[in-house]
Amino acid sequence: MVQDFFSQPIEYLKGVGPQRGDLLKKELGIFTFGDLLFHFPFRYVDRTRFYSIRELKADLPYIQVRGRIVSLVVKGDKRKKVMAGRFDDGTGSIELRWFQGLKWLQSTLQLNQEYILFGKPSEWNGAISVVHPELELAAEVNPALASSLQAIYATTEKLKTRGLDSRGILRLQKQLQIQLPPRFSETLPDNSVQSLRLMNRRDAFAAIHFPDSPEAQKKAEFRLKFEELFYIQLRLLSMKQARLEKFRGRVFSTVGDYFNRFFKECLPFPLTNAQKRVIKEIRTDCGSGKQMNRLLQGDVGSGKTVVALMSMLLAIDNGFQACLMAPTEILANQHAETISKMLGELDVPVALLTGSTKTAARRKIHEGLQDGSIKILIGTHALIEDPVQFKALGFVVIDEQHRFGVEQRARLWAKSDTPPHILVMTATPIPRTLAMTIYGDLDVSVIDELPPGRKPISTVHRTDAHRLQVWNFLKKEIALGRQVYIVYPLIKESEKSDMKNLEDGYNAICRDFPAPKYRVSIVHGKQKNADKDFEMQRFVKGETHIMVATTVIEVGVNVPNASVMVIENAERFGLSQLHQLRGRVGRGVDQSYCILMTGPKLGNDARLRIKTMVETNDGFRIAETDLQLRGPGDAEGTRQSGIVDLKLADLAKDQQILQTAREAAVKLLEQDPHLEKPEHAVVHRQLDAIRKRSGNWGRIS
Ligand code: ADP
Ligand code: MG
Repeated sequence: MVQDFFSQPIEYLKGVGPQRGDLLKKELGIFTFGDLLFHFPFRYVDRTRFYSIRELKADLPYIQVRGRIVSLVVKGDKRKKVMAGRFDDGTGSIELRWFQGLKWLQSTLQLNQEYILFGKPSEWNGAISVVHPELELAAEVNPALASSLQAIYATTEKLKTRGLDSRGILRLQKQLQIQLPPRFSETLPDNSVQSLRLMNRRDAFAAIHFPDSPEAQKKAEFRLKFEELFYIQLRLLSMKQARLEKFRGRVFSTVGDYFNRFFKECLPFPLTNAQKRVIKEIRTDCGSGKQMNRLLQGDVGSGKTVVALMSMLLAIDNGFQACLMAPTEILANQHAETISKMLGELDVPVALLTGSTKTAARRKIHEGLQDGSIKILIGTHALIEDPVQFKALGFVVIDEQHRFGVEQRARLWAKSDTPPHILVMTATPIPRTLAMTIYGDLDVSVIDELPPGRKPISTVHRTDAHRLQVWNFLKKEIALGRQVYIVYPLIKESEKSDMKNLEDGYNAICRDFPAPKYRVSIVHGKQKNADKDFEMQRFVKGETHIMVATTVIEVGVNVPNASVMVIENAERFGLSQLHQLRGRVGRGVDQSYCILMTGPKLGNDARLRIKTMVETNDGFRIAETDLQLRGPGDAEGTRQSGIVDLKLADLAKDQQILQTAREAAVKLLEQDPHLEKPEHAVVHRQLDAIRKRSGNWGRIS
């Protein structure tokens, strides 16, 4: 059985043994034959290409040179030793340098013998050198390993001193291939294997580690990536299917007075086409008898609140209650206010329930929810924890979803077997590939259009040397009647110094913008909720000119009269955070500005983040750049999802394969929703095995 082969302990592989086995477990998490098989190369070198030392340049990737070590010396003191060697091939020589494992190296390296050297050239002290090269005696080169493309594996310094450098791992891979069962059963549906002409699984595992040609390597890679993505999609889609089968949805069959009157009498602006389309999608979903789970993506300022409100009115028209949850109290308060204002004359009882609600008021709200007299409840996500009982909860909106865990979403579903419809809203644009993976079990709506008349925010990068100009600019804007945000980073790891920074900044601002001409608010996470709210309200009402804040104002806050966002230490913020913060301005009719303040020197990534912000206002482009920069595991909103733990596929690069894999999974479930047909037994079994292996995704199905 292939499965038994996969689960054999790694120490049983010839050439491993208990000591190396322990190291492989500790250093690389390789416990079994299967783990080693899945330890894929991260690149390949062309073994047929030898460079001469004369040709070497620092910008070359991994290269191969044939030559001799002509000298070896250890320098430095006890604490920090360096070994330097000179490697000569007759056309010239380079320096080799090692920092670790010197003892072992000294005892194994031989002078004046012909070696094949592998490594990445770099420039040091004006000359080319190679740090920690891999060296193999030319006489000992194993022809069995010498395929034209040689795999390069991730390894660690500790493993290297045990002979398990990349080449050592390659040797183990060879051993594994020798023992590999001659036939594997197929794990993908025949349909896909044939229509996509996929390489079979056994061959793919051989060709990914020992490709005969670049083409074979590509085909193997495609097959294995496809398989990885296919099972993720199949799992997500079957979860969604199971949920739809298990839960009935409340049926919103009519569009009644609340919705219609709001549309005719209260709506302060015509809806954009995108808003209309999304409302229609929601109406269709809620009338279908199925429970809706929809993600609404819309860039900052695209007008999601009104879509949420109109959906809630639809619920009320059909005799249900609705609930809107926000990630912070500031935002919940603001939603309560905006919504009450928008509803105007329309008589809809709205209640606000947050951590600051007093006991007596809280009790009254609980009563109102139970007897059905309160129609809309607004609060923070603490609402999920709160023992609130609704008479008939029909619709739940979760605003700014990336602050809500998947688990909390699941808790809502779990409340009853006719759960409310759920609309999750997020302003953190997510690249399509990520959305398809993280939210692959949700339906997705997109508001891809901003309300008319918005002027694009003008973004600039300034350093402390420009401080005076920036301050003068703020004074000019304030003189025109506008308001200004100045945001400071407050990051857990450096909380103390950040807090000091914020206070120093606040004091300096109060000095440079003296009262009574200028008034300054301050809001940060360390304040009491009541203080936070008081300061926020002063700014909202236009009583203060400047709001000094930390990222507590990052999401959702809406003060249309604010036209300038200054971000201090902008280099310390992530891209999507910068975009969110910038989204606090540009919400009114005035031209708005975002000023990114940094120190004079920036690292490469920081420079690219700032450059991207200056160049574009497009949230989706920013999200793509974020994904390229940080990788999917760290991109905003995905950190805790646990879903994007991929071995081979790369969501930033493999969009096409992902799309194909998703389509294949959709098609399979259409033909055979429960994978009951005999020809799908392998797929069924594989899916079960994966579920068991990778545990819970924190959702219910
Ligand atoms: P977000 O999608 O970021 O939550 P909001 O719902 O807060 O955006 O809307 C941003 C601003 O745009 C609000 O001031 C809102 O009143 C306004 N707005 C929303 N929709 C429209 C529209 N169709 N036309 C004009 N202004 C709109
Ligand atoms: Mg919003």
